[in-house]
Amino acid sequence: MKYFDAHCHVQFDPYDLDRAAVIASMQEKQVGGMVVGVDLDSSVKALKLVENLPNFYASAGLHPNYVLDERFDEDSFRAILRHPKMKAVGECGLDNFRPEDVETAKIEQRKVFEKHIELAIEADKPMMIHSRPSKGTQDAYRDMIDILRTYKREYGDRLRGDIHFFVGSTEEARDFLDLGFTMSFTAVLTFARDYDEVVRFLPLTSIITETDSPYVAPSRIRGQRNDPVSVIDVVQSIAEIRGEDEKVVREAVLMNARTLFSV
Ligand SMILES: [Zn+2]
Repeated sequence: MKYFDAHCHVQFDPYDLDRAAVIASMQEKQVGGMVVGVDLDSSVKALKLVENLPNFYASAGLHPNYVLDERFDEDSFRAILRHPKMKAVGECGLDNFRPEDVETAKIEQRKVFEKHIELAIEADKPMMIHSRPSKGTQDAYRDMIDILRTYKREYGDRLRGDIHFFVGSTEEARDFLDLGFTMSFTAVLTFARDYDEVVRFLPLTSIITETDSPYVAPSRIRGQRNDPVSVIDVVQSIAEIRGEDEKVVREAVLMNARTLFSV
């Protein structure tokens, strides 16, 4: 394995017609991947998909945007998380960007997120966190940092994880570093310059790569479905932005993913 896409959704419908080819191209380019569930059904699908594939792993959770549509079935999640291919709890977290009724959603999101934290601590697995602030603010990150700090005081290093699709500022980055969390970046780095500062600010030991496929394709295929092999573009962008050697960056971010997720 040369690259690791720490967050993709190749179990989703857009891959129904060519999933085997997408996986074959990942294998050919030595890209491993974490297939992330967003509800119980997609978490079970993720596990089934990776079960017999070397360098593929799964994560199970209920995405904050679905907490009003699906009851968090703690026992079922606990059961699938026992599987050795299940390497993280999530995606889970807080999203102030999408809900129509943010205030109602916030209460439920927080409750469900705290249940994920407790499951992760119980299972001794890292968290895959989604945190999306409302436009022009860092609100969901500030709330997230407060919640994680409270649990960190009680559980220490048992509480660990990655802030997926990180779009916060250096201030939030510093707070997540203090909590011992990594932050992962997508191919948004290939076409937006808003995150260059935070990519330079972070120590290389705290950066992880991902694609969030099928979303956010890199500039070379902008507007099309994204595929996990685009994690190669993400590594190139990080190296360029930081002015560091691509091989050094590739090996470091791979090691970070291996360490955090035990893959
Ligand atoms: Zn996702």
